[in-house]
Amino acid sequence: MAMKQFKAESKKLMDMMIHSIYTNKEIFLRELISNASDAIDKLYFRSLTDSNVGMNKEDFAIHLSLDKENRLLTVSDNGIGMTKEELEKNLGTIAHSGSLDFKKENKDDDIDIIGQFGVGFYASFMVADRVTVITRAYGSDEAWKWESTGVQGYQIEPAEKDTVGTDIILHIKDNTEDENYDNFASEYELVSLVKKYSDYVRYPITMYREKSRMKDKPEDAGDDYTPEYETYTELETLNSMVPIWKKQKSEVSAEEYNDFYKTKFHDFTDPARVIVSRTEGTANYNALLFVPDRPAYDYYSKDFEKGLALYASGVLIMEKCADLLPDHFSFIKGIVDSQDLSLNISREMLQQDNQLKLIRNALEKKIKNELRSMQLNDREKYEAFWKNFGRQIKFGCYADYGMHSALLKDLLLFYSAKEQKMVTLDEYTEAMPVEQKFIYFAAGDSSERLAKLPSTELVLDKGYDVLLCTEDVDEFCLQILHSATAKDAEDKERTVEFKNVNSGDLGLESEDEKKAAEEATASNKDLFDAMQAALNGKVKAVKISTRLKGHPVCLSSDGPLSIEMEKVLRTQPGGEGVTSDKVLELNAQHPVFAVMQAAQAAGDTEKIQQYSTILYAQAQLIEGLPVDDPAAYAQAVCELMK
Ligand code: ADP
Repeated sequence: MAMKQFKAESKKLMDMMIHSIYTNKEIFLRELISNASDAIDKLYFRSLTDSNVGMNKEDFAIHLSLDKENRLLTVSDNGIGMTKEELEKNLGTIAHSGSLDFKKENKDDDIDIIGQFGVGFYASFMVADRVTVITRAYGSDEAWKWESTGVQGYQIEPAEKDTVGTDIILHIKDNTEDENYDNFASEYELVSLVKKYSDYVRYPITMYREKSRMKDKPEDAGDDYTPEYETYTELETLNSMVPIWKKQKSEVSAEEYNDFYKTKFHDFTDPARVIVSRTEGTANYNALLFVPDRPAYDYYSKDFEKGLALYASGVLIMEKCADLLPDHFSFIKGIVDSQDLSLNISREMLQQDNQLKLIRNALEKKIKNELRSMQLNDREKYEAFWKNFGRQIKFGCYADYGMHSALLKDLLLFYSAKEQKMVTLDEYTEAMPVEQKFIYFAAGDSSERLAKLPSTELVLDKGYDVLLCTEDVDEFCLQILHSATAKDAEDKERTVEFKNVNSGDLGLESEDEKKAAEEATASNKDLFDAMQAALNGKVKAVKISTRLKGHPVCLSSDGPLSIEMEKVLRTQPGGEGVTSDKVLELNAQHPVFAVMQAAQAAGDTEKIQQYSTILYAQAQLIEGLPVDDPAAYAQAVCELMK
């Protein structure tokens, strides 16, 4: 029988398993049991609609057997089995999509690959130097044997097997200096591994265990009889079979939840939070949800599939039910089990299902409340969460025309320039002086730059705080929220709008200041018209600024679209032509302004043309915008230096 090669990435993973520095080798058993349980799920599900299967729920089991002498451990199931093609496909390659992409980025980190993908079947090679799989698929009368001793490859040949299902036979490695593999050929150890990792598995995990009992006392035994013992074997079910999500939270330890999460969702790190939720109002369900400690490797890519595992009365009907999770909570992992759902419900019908909608809504509220409580009671953890998933929640605020913003707004955090830390909107408004008219924010790509913007400095000088927004979605999120509530001097609620520090009217200047600037703008109308003409439609107006202290110029926006939003929209398909209405503001106190006035008085149109271009480019630079024509700008500055 010819040796077949593993696919490249499988080979790599297997190699890592064999030479694993991963200390947690014992997880191989939970991986094999979990595969066995999935295989049984598949056949059981089939049996519900196909009477030919001829099996009842009680007939299914996972059986462990140990041949200590030969160091053989067998994990058997009477699940769906595999055809020859499936054997080839499933065990010759890694099933997890995206593994190749991942490999390119992380070459040496084998701990992480375990975390990212779970290792599944290949985990056997951490403890075994030879793995044999004998399997017969449901509906087939052929059985097949797959065997491998490692990276060299594997062989597949016909085999004998009377019943449908799969036997995985591990030949446990010999002990080495560093590792005692005998543990994995010990009945006692195996029993405790099942208890630790697989207790909730819904099918019995059985094993013949050696026991000892007292022999009956012989009739003719005298008074000096000493009891005799004999050993016998008895089939024992090792797991309690109660799904962990059906247990009361108080019955389950944090470690058990964490282990369950890691096994089920192939994560290497403990979850950031465990959420247990059951029947609320009209929907009957048990849910066990997890907030991961970090995003899945593909979370922010379009390959990511959200969803919760959906069970109907304990039977898995869908691995990832997307309809149970709103997009803004798509990072949540977990399980929902409901007795209200029919087993045979199709995907299409599920979408319409009223019960499912009720569950979804209840879960959405529950998740929100749990996150909020994390924010209030464990800020450090929440901030770590926010780093990972805040972006998704901000998208949620903005998506669907702001439909979910009421739910999500108190989860938001932004960076406060004044406090130099993350704050909620409530915290911002509570700290706000009563006369403050707006909630100020600056938007752009770097908080260092935003903090130094003339407009930011101006607002901070007034004693008001500025939220520094560095993600694309931030300003869209604030725009859709439009306002937040604060207390006025009489402690009554008032509505305060968000204000980009770069927008026209910041509400900082007194009426007098405003009037003076308007008058100065009017009296320099000719100059400003000439400058606007020189800029050839790039700005909607040129005016005297009330916000500039040291800088000669700045750009502000007039209208609903800010300069930052223009930047973001332009990077999106269809957004190429988007422009914000820009206003070039000049500092009347700055010597440069006097120079412009002099040029106007002298009728020097060439100078006005040249200087306007330079000033505009400078304003663009301060805003972090690309200069329209960098070469021309550099040229113009050099001209001045000559
Ligand atoms: P995963 O379980 O994460 O998909 P594995 O490498 O553990 O990855 O297994 C690959 C595939 O092999 C499984 O998806 C399943 O289709 C098949 N498989 C593994 N073990 C069994 C089994 N005991 N019975 C039937 N199919 C199995």
